[in-house]
Amino acid sequence: MTRTIALLGSTGSIGRQTLEVARDLGLSVAALTANSSIDLLEQQAREFSPRLVVLYDEAAAREMKARLADTKIEVRSGMEGLLAAATMDEADTVVTAVVGMIGLQPTLAAIAKGKRIALANKETLVCAGELVMDAAERSGAAIVPVDSEHSAIFQCLQGCRDRGEIRRLILTCSGGPFYALSYDELASKTKYDALKHPNWTMGAKITIDSATLMNKGLEIIEAMRLYRLPLEKVSAVIHRQSIVHSLVEFHDGAMLAQLGTPDMKLPIRYAMTYPYRAEHTPTALDLLSCPPLTFAEPDEEAFRCLAIAKQCARVGGTSCAVMNGANEVAVGAFLREEIGFNDIPALVETALSAVEQVSNPALADILEADRLARQAVAEKLK
Ligand code: MG
Repeated sequence: MTRTIALLGSTGSIGRQTLEVARDLGLSVAALTANSSIDLLEQQAREFSPRLVVLYDEAAAREMKARLADTKIEVRSGMEGLLAAATMDEADTVVTAVVGMIGLQPTLAAIAKGKRIALANKETLVCAGELVMDAAERSGAAIVPVDSEHSAIFQCLQGCRDRGEIRRLILTCSGGPFYALSYDELASKTKYDALKHPNWTMGAKITIDSATLMNKGLEIIEAMRLYRLPLEKVSAVIHRQSIVHSLVEFHDGAMLAQLGTPDMKLPIRYAMTYPYRAEHTPTALDLLSCPPLTFAEPDEEAFRCLAIAKQCARVGGTSCAVMNGANEVAVGAFLREEIGFNDIPALVETALSAVEQVSNPALADILEADRLARQAVAEKLK
């Protein structure tokens, strides 16, 4: 294994698990970036000795510079630092594990350099999927998804020579902590209820998105962009056990699925070793002791975010960026306990009606749609 990675977002859940994989596989680390988690980032920098460390926050970067004064590690800050990390010559793979729209420009910069993208930043594909995939096609950069569902589909498609043979992608969805509740019952749910996810341990933002099912909506759009398929060919099914990670149905009626214990390190490891697989036994699934596998239809009336996301997927243009930006701000407000659970879809709808849609958007249109969506939600919150 000779891969050298630049890891954007190394202190979050995916970032930390990526470093566990890097340790197991003996990968080199050229860059580590974080928003402001200075203690953990310093510890990671001392273990992996990257050439570059980036803190998005300026003050945190200054502090880090002082802390790492005894090393040769360069410290930078801001978007300029993220772009430098994404485009370093010595890295062949860029892991995009940052949360939210902030990952878009570094991802595009890494793609332009032809890097392999281990993509864990779904917001990038949701907001600007067409731009990202077009850029990857031009530069020949491989985009290997790290999201467990998309990794499952990517694995199932390895023998597929013709995308026209795909009848349907089926994303599985755990249903989150509020499965089977009605819209009215959801109203009183707090962040403490939402943060108890049944199967996966994840960061706060994605955990709330999983509780609202916005996560599945974002993932449907992510799958449409990654595999260039219309909404009619991508669906979601509730699968409470999180053992079948997603499925592909082909036009001859065959269905392929990837199964395994819920462990993000498997898709991360595959993104590093693809098209090969690294030997690893501890995560093997024991079919004889796993619970019965069940499947059910998601309830879009209770979980409004899923219905909204599908509607945005249908409309296209900048609507997905508006939805995503509004959702990021609304989830932040929910985590600060300023709004209720059902205010999240309501605020996203407010932004969608306030911000005008642009079709065939350029990068500037997408960034502007994101800004206006955030502004519309912030005004409503006042
Ligand atoms: Mg996922």
